[in-house]
Amino acid sequence: MTSFGVSYFGNRFISHAKRDIKRIAESCDYIVHTVSESDLTYHKAVITKIMSDSAKAGLEVWADPWGLGGVFGGESFSKFLLEHRDAWQVMSDGRVVPAACLNRPEWRSYVMEWILNVRDMGAQVLFWDEPHVSFDFESEWEGIYSCVCDVCQHIYKKQYGSPLPAKLNETARHFRRESIRNFLNDVMAFARSRNLKNAICLYAFKGHPEYDLIWQEAAAMPDLDIMGCDPYWRWRGHQDPALHVADFSRYVVESAKPHGKGSQVWLQAMRLPAGAEGEIHKACEAAVKEGVTHVAAWSFDGGELLDSVLSERPEDVWNTVETAFKRFRQRSK
Ligand SMILES: [Zn+2]
Repeated sequence: MTSFGVSYFGNRFISHAKRDIKRIAESCDYIVHTVSESDLTYHKAVITKIMSDSAKAGLEVWADPWGLGGVFGGESFSKFLLEHRDAWQVMSDGRVVPAACLNRPEWRSYVMEWILNVRDMGAQVLFWDEPHVSFDFESEWEGIYSCVCDVCQHIYKKQYGSPLPAKLNETARHFRRESIRNFLNDVMAFARSRNLKNAICLYAFKGHPEYDLIWQEAAAMPDLDIMGCDPYWRWRGHQDPALHVADFSRYVVESAKPHGKGSQVWLQAMRLPAGAEGEIHKACEAAVKEGVTHVAAWSFDGGELLDSVLSERPEDVWNTVETAFKRFRQRSK
């Protein structure tokens, strides 16, 4: 059986949220609430009410560490980085970049504090969205990588007996992957010990030996419950929605199933030009056919709230998601 969900963000008015949640519950089984650092600082009381209303409407409640520390995906600024200037990642050419070093104990403590907070607010599933170390293609081509701060240097030296190299090599690649894996294993184990489930979303990217390894290692994480990716077909370039989503749905299911994990695929319900809304049906059908356990739409209202994801006809985008979800939800029951 497939369950259906949607991400919800940007609104902190309870009366408005009540109306939205009522509508979401008509077509969805779960709702992914973004909880940014700003929310953690200023909106705990209202998010607790919004999450409670979501649960009362019969939706499973998910929480997304939106843009936290510059480590996860999300259009949000980081207070942690402002307050912890020495916890930023350092590239191997000496550049200090605005993303928290995954090996810094103060960063891990901060993420655990976020976990405890969202659990108290009512979250049931944590959605680890696009976790990454600081990365850009130009640097990567030149072998410049992150992180080589003094904490990372210390850990590396203990393991390999030498400082981190200035340019990427096999051991530096291994260390980078291990840093991501250790961090995620740590926070996921902490979440599970607090009776929360863990879901992850990786970039829909394959055929690159290192990212393929990250993907396989993620699928095997002991405390992970749901493995996923976001194969948006109109993001960089334009792919056929049915083929692109079928391809990555298969990849997710093949990776997740042998480890006994659920699978999730995000459908592009944002940044769609007028006339492209019908593509959501094709994408949804492809994901369901491939046996994905959790189909999701990013985001509620066709991305109307946010410049970077705004569709030309956001209302039509959301109407199409509703119709598609209701259709396939009915069939999968
Ligand atoms: Zn570091």
